[in-house]
Amino acid sequence: MQEVIVNLHMHTRYSDGSGRHQDIAKAAFAAGVDVVIVTDHNVLVNGFEGYYKEKNKKILMLIGEEVHDQARDPQKNHLLVFGAARELASFAVDPQLLIDQVRSAGGLSFLAHPDDPAAPLFKETDISWVDWSVQNYTGIELWNALSELKTVVPTKLQAIFYALFPSFVASQPIPATLARWDELLSNGSRVVAIGGSDAHALHMKMGLLSRVIFPYEFHFRTVNTHVFTSEALSGDANKDRKLIYDALAEGHCFVGYDLSAPTKNFRFTAQGKDASVSMGDEIPAKGGVTLQAKLPSMAEIRLLKDGQVIQTWKNKNSCMHTTTEPGVYRVEAYRTYLGKLRGWIYSNPIYVR
Ligand SMILES: [Zn+2]
Ligand SMILES: [Zn+2]
Repeated sequence: MQEVIVNLHMHTRYSDGSGRHQDIAKAAFAAGVDVVIVTDHNVLVNGFEGYYKEKNKKILMLIGEEVHDQARDPQKNHLLVFGAARELASFAVDPQLLIDQVRSAGGLSFLAHPDDPAAPLFKETDISWVDWSVQNYTGIELWNALSELKTVVPTKLQAIFYALFPSFVASQPIPATLARWDELLSNGSRVVAIGGSDAHALHMKMGLLSRVIFPYEFHFRTVNTHVFTSEALSGDANKDRKLIYDALAEGHCFVGYDLSAPTKNFRFTAQGKDASVSMGDEIPAKGGVTLQAKLPSMAEIRLLKDGQVIQTWKNKNSCMHTTTEPGVYRVEAYRTYLGKLRGWIYSNPIYVR
C-alpha cells in the first residue's frame, strides 16, 4: 500500500471559484500534495484531468463535480461526485436518483458539508444535507474547511481576524456531523469519511481590507484526505485515477489536519486470528482482535467503539487495544496548536463483525 495525500473539493472559474486549473496545480506543487480533485458546481469540466509537472515534481489532477438542485428553495443537499464517466447534474432534482445514477456510471458519491450553517454576514445560507432517507452513497465529507469557517464568523471583527490569520479557523469537524456519522455507522451502514477544503480562493473586500481569503495553497496545507492505494502510483493518469477511486470506495483513507503537524504515516490496523486489516476493512471478532494505531508524532489518541470513546491515551504516538467485541472502531487524535486542542486525525473505521 502507498499513502497518497489528496486534497479534494475545490472550485475554479467554471463555477464560483476565482482561480484556474493551472493555479490549482501551482498551489498543489507549493503545498506538497500528491493529488487534487476539482469539483465545480454542476459541471463536469473536460480537458484538465491528468498529471501536471514542474521541475522534478508532479501532481495528478482529477476532475469530479459538486451537484445540487439549483431550483430548490432553500438550497440544500450538495453531493460530491468522483469518477463518474458522464455529466450527472440533470439528476439533481432527486438526490436518491442522483446517487443511483452516479453508482451506475461507475462513480462515487459523498454527501458534501452535511452540516453547513448560515453565515448571514456574507449572505451565505445554510446548505446542509437534509434528505437523510438516501441510501447507497459512498460516504460523507466529515470535515469541510469552509463550513467550519462559517461557524466562527458571526461578527465583522471575527471575519477580519480569521481572514488575516486563517490558521486559527480549523479546530475539528462540526460535532453534529461526527455524531451523524457515528449514528449511520452504528446502524450497520458502511460510510466512508473524507475531508474536503471547499476551496474557492475568493476575493474579499471589507473596508480597506482587500485580499484573497483562503487561497488554494493554504487549503492544501490544512484538511487533507490521506489515501492508501493498493499499489504505488505509476504516473499513468488513467491507471492511478482508478487506484485512488478504488481506495476511496473502500474507505482506505483517513482525514488529516496537516497544518498543525504532518499526519503522513498515521496507521490504524487490526490483527485477528487469521487476518490483518486496515481502515475501511472488516475483520471477524472470533478469536480476538488487536487494534493498533501508530502516529507520526505525539498526540492525544482516542479509540471509539460505536461512537463512544472507550480508551484515551495522552502524549503517545502509538496505542493498542485487544477486544473480542464486535463493533465499529475508529481513532481520533488531537494536538494542541495555536493555544488550543484541535482535531488532528480522524481514521476511517475498522468493522469488527
Ligand atoms: Zn457545496
Ligand atoms: Zn463546494
